[in-house]
Amino acid sequence: MGTEERQELICINCPVGCRLTVIKDDSSDSGYRIYGNMCPRGVEYGIKESTNPTRIVTSTVKIKGAFLKRLPVKTDGAIPKGLNFKCMEEINRVVVEAPVKIGQVIIENVLDIGIDVVATRSMGRVRDFESN
Ligand code: SF4
Repeated sequence: MGTEERQELICINCPVGCRLTVIKDDSSDSGYRIYGNMCPRGVEYGIKESTNPTRIVTSTVKIKGAFLKRLPVKTDGAIPKGLNFKCMEEINRVVVEAPVKIGQVIIENVLDIGIDVVATRSMGRVRDFESN
């Protein structure tokens, strides 16, 4: 008997946070057996995390003309984990000018994957503010 390929995960789809066990099983329709989920969304999450793990990326970009020097941003959808680093590189290149409204697109279609980077708060312009 070979060793079982299994992964322990916490489902992040709702505050319950079920502890999932995902076991690779070629004899099942999905290719996986999932235990510990209290609803079907856990099955979907477990399979997705095992085949193509994705994450929302949150960070900040440099902003000029505002009372803070950094503007918080996030991707408006989950991106493959393997692209997180490249996404952060794109985010680190950006400098925006105040004012910015919450939800405003800061980088459109980042890395050509159909996901935008958006502002997660509004920031007004500060008069006579000298930013570096
Ligand atoms: S499996 Fe269902 S109940 Fe459990 S954390 Fe995920 S979404 Fe919530």
